[in-house]
Amino acid sequence: MAFTIRNLKIRDQILLVTLPPLFVLLCAVALFFYAYWSAINTEHAALRSKERVVRGESFLRHATEASMAIRGYVFTRREDLVTAYDRAIKESQADLLTLSDLDAASPGESEEVARIRVEFDQMQSQWAQPTMDKLRSDTEFNKDKALSDGQTRLADIRTKVLKLRSEDEGENLGEMEGAEKVIKRMLVVGITLAAVLAGILIFLTGVVTRLIVAPVLQLIHASEQVGRGDFSPDLPPVADNEFGVLSRSFSQMTTALQREREEIASLNRFSEAVTQCTSEVEVYDLLLHSLKERFQPRQAIIFKLNAAENYLEVAATLVPLPKEEGAWPVIEEPHNCKAVRTGRSFVVNDVQLEPLCPSKFILPTEGSYYCGPLIAGGIIIGSMRVEAAPNLLTPERQRLLEGYLSVAASALSNLRLLDRMKQQANIDMLTGLYNRRFLEDYARKLFAIARRREQPVGVIMLDLDHFKSFNDIYGHEIGDRVLRHFAKAVTTCMRETNLAARYGGEEFVVVLPDTSAKASSLVAERIRKAVMTMVVPSNTEKPLPQLTVSIGVVAFPEHGQTLEEILQASDKALYDSKRGGRNRVTVAATPD
Ligand code: GH3
Ligand code: MG
Ligand code: MG
Repeated sequence: MAFTIRNLKIRDQILLVTLPPLFVLLCAVALFFYAYWSAINTEHAALRSKERVVRGESFLRHATEASMAIRGYVFTRREDLVTAYDRAIKESQADLLTLSDLDAASPGESEEVARIRVEFDQMQSQWAQPTMDKLRSDTEFNKDKALSDGQTRLADIRTKVLKLRSEDEGENLGEMEGAEKVIKRMLVVGITLAAVLAGILIFLTGVVTRLIVAPVLQLIHASEQVGRGDFSPDLPPVADNEFGVLSRSFSQMTTALQREREEIASLNRFSEAVTQCTSEVEVYDLLLHSLKERFQPRQAIIFKLNAAENYLEVAATLVPLPKEEGAWPVIEEPHNCKAVRTGRSFVVNDVQLEPLCPSKFILPTEGSYYCGPLIAGGIIIGSMRVEAAPNLLTPERQRLLEGYLSVAASALSNLRLLDRMKQQANIDMLTGLYNRRFLEDYARKLFAIARRREQPVGVIMLDLDHFKSFNDIYGHEIGDRVLRHFAKAVTTCMRETNLAARYGGEEFVVVLPDTSAKASSLVAERIRKAVMTMVVPSNTEKPLPQLTVSIGVVAFPEHGQTLEEILQASDKALYDSKRGGRNRVTVAATPD
């Protein structure tokens, strides 16, 4: 990624932003120290100059005092003036010494002071002292000339000291001006620096806002968008720093979230659609269709465990199976299917590298496959295999597949339960034959079809003989056992296309589609004989007495146009058998 400030790490960005004000601040501090130092220096220099001026003036005063003292002595001869002279001379010399010390730093001035000192000493030794000596010894000499000489020498020294003093004053003034200039300059530089600092800070605030605050705000805005369900949020431009990482992981998270949401939605759609299915085949088709849409698998096979649970048969496939396997494709040993055996799903990520399912049922030669059990109400009812490209079945996809499987399995289980309930509603619990309600429903429809096709329907009505007294003697339980054996005897005597039903307590009806009354009477006769040889196990050593059955035979439409008429006619024929001595078959007489 190109090198830009935006791509720098946040720490470096902050460092970069901090450096300019720090630099300006350091400049300001350096400037402050320089100003302070130069102010102190100026103050020292000014103090020194002032001291020199004071000392210079002191020297002039003392020199004048000395000169005045000599003059006074010349004219008055007062001894106290000699003392005053000596003191003034000493003071003057002390002043010159101090001046010489003060000017030690400046070579020019110190030389000048040294010259003045020499001159002063010369004046002292060559003029003042000899003049004083001469005056004391009363030697005649030209006093006026001597005084004039002294005045000239003193004036000369005075001039030099005055010059020095004025120089010092000038210097002092110069230093003061210099200090003022420095302070003024400092003020200008300080204000400029403050303005630059303020400008830099304003600029950097903008930079910080753009570099750090803006991406954070954008990320907050993006997370709010995702929160509202918008899965394509406006993310900050991708940078090569922490924000870039954050932005990328946010984007990945959003994509994952969106994918998960879509998967949940598709699973919801599937579970909604599956509730509309009315048969297992429909569930299989829908499951395969949904898997195709969601996973684009190479193949998907649904295996169904048979009722006896001794084999797994192929219930549906996405792609038709090869011809040789297609006739009756089964896994003969259900436990060879690992998913059925363990009750858990598994994935083979690469069939060429990993061990395969022991069932060996048309396994793919390349790619990967998933196999999961179909579990309904805790019972394994089958399994499903989904074949895909290598390593395509990620853990997320597996979880989703499991979701589809469990929805399908519960739909299948519901359908089976419904089927069983429907069956139970039509079946007589004691004998396992159809009940009266189903018989009536079935017969009505059958008569309608038979009428259209002009085919007869035989109807046989059967009633056990003296069953009441049998029940009374041997008990209800044995009576039930007889009824079950009787039902079995009836069904063994009829064809698969015939239908037997328990019509009442110990009354039964057999319906024979496309069978005349005569043909039906043959079946009835077979049943009558079968009952006569029927052996019902007894609870005691004593065998049960042989039972018999009385039968009435009719046919639609010969003996009635409606179910009610037919049943009535058959009941009448049955009654005729009873009346005729029981254990017999009576075919109803053809109405006129
Ligand atoms: P008939 O030869 O005239 O038919 O004499 P019957 O004694 O069989 O008379 P009927 O058909 O009226 O008697 C029906 C008896 O069937 C009454 C009841 O004891 C018996 N029965 C009806 N339903 C059941 C049942 O579900 N179990 C048992 N054990 N007996 C039943
Ligand atoms: Mg009866
Ligand atoms: Mg009876």
